[in-house]
Amino acid sequence: MNTVYFDHNSTTALRKEVLETMLPFMISQHGNPTSRHVFGRNAHEAVENARAQVANAVGAQANQIVFTASGTEANNFAVNGITSNLAHGQILTSAIEHPCVTRPAQAMQSRGWRAHSIHVDTYCKLDIHHLHNMLAAPTNLVSVMLANNETGVLQDIGQIAELTREHKAYMHTDAVQALGKIPVDFADLGVHAMTISSHKIGGPLGVGALVLDKRVDIYPLLHGGGQEKGLRSGTENVPAIVGFGAACELAIKDLSHFSKQTESLRKRLETGLQEMNASIFGKNANRLPNTSFFAFDNIEGETLVTALDKAGFAVASGSACSSNSTEPSHVLLAMGVDSDMARGAVRVSFNAENTLAQVDAFLKTLKQEVNRLKQMTAIAA
Ligand code: PLP
Repeated sequence: MNTVYFDHNSTTALRKEVLETMLPFMISQHGNPTSRHVFGRNAHEAVENARAQVANAVGAQANQIVFTASGTEANNFAVNGITSNLAHGQILTSAIEHPCVTRPAQAMQSRGWRAHSIHVDTYCKLDIHHLHNMLAAPTNLVSVMLANNETGVLQDIGQIAELTREHKAYMHTDAVQALGKIPVDFADLGVHAMTISSHKIGGPLGVGALVLDKRVDIYPLLHGGGQEKGLRSGTENVPAIVGFGAACELAIKDLSHFSKQTESLRKRLETGLQEMNASIFGKNANRLPNTSFFAFDNIEGETLVTALDKAGFAVASGSACSSNSTEPSHVLLAMGVDSDMARGAVRVSFNAENTLAQVDAFLKTLKQEVNRLKQMTAIAA
């Protein structure tokens, strides 16, 4: 049985064209970019070419890109690096951030900073009034994600960044889920720092970047040989960086197709879900085109995901990035969804290669599995 993959927000396959650009740097072009010989110079040139490709994909300049080993690393770098050079104040993060933003913010509390969470409403949108009130106290950093990994709901980052700048605080956004799915423009967003990650857009695992406004005095993430302008020392992962650059270029070229195709798949899926009386979270908010997050009354998300996996469909329950935990999704709890319903949440995330036929087959299986699980619950009750 060929399992259908509907979990592209967790990670998506390396694109063949991307692999082809990476291979020479894994086999014959194995230079260290700091070496003076031809191998080193070629590797250096490849890294700088990728830097330009990444910058171009996000409306930034090449010298604003700092390569990291992941989105997680870039988010930790933003929170720790931006606050470390400032006097103690507060760090504000939205209640729906990925843990790789909230946990470093919480960790800064032991070093004298205060970390607070900003509420969201039932549509998963940031409560601007709450942010406004919290900004009355001296604030170093505000971090709000552009697109939520679970609901796909988009935030008005331009407006949030403007408010943050008025209060003389730095603004960071996690754009890991947005890149390749909607247009992302660093300059337009008006933020000081932005995180992106390669494996969410068909690039290799193990590389990401922090896009950084030159005016931010950020404390280095790693000390050593001084790579990445002294901000992130360590020999560059040349093949991965080259792959990330190529994936960025392809993602931008394919953006409108991705958007149209995945939106039509989601429309079909959600029509079917509504016929089955599912609750669809964040449905009426502006969302990523490829993401649907839903639940059925009295059905555990984990149980349904396992049943669907056995039946040939790979989907996620809650956030796959924290799937070791059986706690209900913090995103849904922040939206005011009750914890029983939140425990039932299942996420489907498409890419442009998924098809309507796959969605129809999924709906058929889903109906069978939901009915079966409901009958089992009825018998047990
Ligand atoms: N931020 C968001 C919104 C994510 O969804 C993820 C991963 O799922 C990350 C950050 C972490 O990125 P990485 O897997 O590159 O560490």
